[in-house]
Amino acid sequence: MAIDWKILGAPGADNALLVTVDSGQSHDRLLFDCGEGCLSNLKPSEIQGIDHLFFSHFHMDHVSGFDTFFRHNYNRPDVPVQVWGPEGTLEILANRFRSFTWNLHADQPGEWIVRETKGNLIRGARFLTREAFDAAHDLPEVHVDSSAILRETEFTVESRPLPHHTIFSNAYLIRQSDSHNVSPEALASSGLKPGPWLQSLNMPSPEDTLVKVDGTEHRLGDLRDKLLLTTAGKSLAYLTDFCLEPSSQGWSDVATWLNDCDTLVCECQYAQSDSSLALRNGHMTADRVGQLANEASVKELVLLHLSRRYSEKGWAGMQNEAAAQFPGASFPPDWNIG
Ligand SMILES: [Zn+2]
Ligand SMILES: [Zn+2]
Repeated sequence: MAIDWKILGAPGADNALLVTVDSGQSHDRLLFDCGEGCLSNLKPSEIQGIDHLFFSHFHMDHVSGFDTFFRHNYNRPDVPVQVWGPEGTLEILANRFRSFTWNLHADQPGEWIVRETKGNLIRGARFLTREAFDAAHDLPEVHVDSSAILRETEFTVESRPLPHHTIFSNAYLIRQSDSHNVSPEALASSGLKPGPWLQSLNMPSPEDTLVKVDGTEHRLGDLRDKLLLTTAGKSLAYLTDFCLEPSSQGWSDVATWLNDCDTLVCECQYAQSDSSLALRNGHMTADRVGQLANEASVKELVLLHLSRRYSEKGWAGMQNEAAAQFPGASFPPDWNIG
């Protein structure tokens, strides 16, 4: 049970984040942003296995690789492709779907579910390949009462708009559900005979349900308390293209939201010495990224989205600036910087 992640793209180039939520029984694959060339080292089967694509925003460096994603998935059978993003996503995706010549599509499978978030409101529409993506079939609007925009059995995805110059960039936080497994030791010491009844422990039945074990009835809640071992789910956050001032309300809200997160994957566009440039372009500096990770008490900080204005030595210096605030701040392991 884990959240596996891989940063796509190179330092100083466009980046994306590929996440696999591994529950033991199932693997859910989530892609965050889709910059130029980010998918080029993935096998077609890996691209076709992505369940959800989340956009932070639609600056070119986050969407330039979408044609590759679309080409591999436009007529995916059986499982719809789900796309998420900030306000404006529906219009931008519809335009991209339609910006090809479609004349051999009538018998093609392919369903795309696109959703955009605005505050607690989610708007969505279905697009079909066989219709050449001509119609946006509106889905009912959904009001969510928390920041969770997607709730699956194995995980949730929360979203929060962050200020990025004059627009917003969506941050995302994946929380894996806790897992409950039968402890072999507890089962052995209980003296209860293993059997198909064990499966009922993980069924969504009420605690007062009676379960028969070897002819004797037991309360389900008691069996759960006695036999199940709980493993806490992991969490991972993706924050890119944003600017927050330390000690502002927005800063402390985000630090609270990220509190205790296992892994924070965060932009690191500018060095501390370029703070005025960072502010002007709506980005963070390395020291602020480290400070935010520190205040949020995350367990791991991974830096991406480095400006190409710096040399490799400059990037190594930025890692040091982040690490001065959050010891252990690192680049993706395969980047070999410094
Ligand atoms: Zn960017
Ligand atoms: Zn941007």
